[in-house]
Amino acid sequence: MKIVSMLNNIISKPVSKGFSKGRNSSSSQSPNRSVAFRHVDVGSCNACEIEISSAFGPVYDASRFGMSLVASPRHADGLLVTGVVTQNMYGPLMKTYEATPKPKIIIACGDCAINGGIFKDSYGVKGILSDVLEVSYSIPGCPPHPQQIVETFRNINR
Ligand code: SF4
Repeated sequence: MKIVSMLNNIISKPVSKGFSKGRNSSSSQSPNRSVAFRHVDVGSCNACEIEISSAFGPVYDASRFGMSLVASPRHADGLLVTGVVTQNMYGPLMKTYEATPKPKIIIACGDCAINGGIFKDSYGVKGILSDVLEVSYSIPGCPPHPQQIVETFRNINR
C-alpha cells in the first residue's frame, strides 16, 4: 500500500520546474546543431582521455547537448586533440586533419596540447598543437575537468 501511494505521488507530481527550466535555458546556449568530433591522441598520458570518457558518461553526459565522438574524421566537424604533438603522431594528425570536412573546429584538450605540459621539450616531441594547426578552442587543465570539456562543447559558436 505504501509503495502504491509513493508511486501515485511520483506519477502525479509535475516535472520539477528547476529541471525543465535548466533544460530550456541550456538549449539557448547550445550550438545550432549537433557537433561531432574525432578524438586524436597525439601523445597524451591518457588521463585526458579518462576525463573525456567522463564527459560522455552518465554524470556529465555531453550527448544530451548534441555532442558526439565519431570514429572517422570524415564524419566529424572537427578534432578533439589531446597530448603534446609527438614526432610519431604528427603525420597521422595531419592526415586526420586533411580528412576532416570544413569547418574543421580544432580543440586543444589539456595542458599538453596547449603548451606542452610536462612533456614539453622531450626528445620525441615535435611541438604543441598550435605549432601545427590553427586551434579554435582550448580546454586547460592537467587533466581538464569533464565539466570544462562539456562547457567548451556547449560554447562552440558556429
Ligand atoms: S594534460 Fe596532463 S593529463 Fe592531459 S595528457 Fe598531458 S599530462 Fe596527461
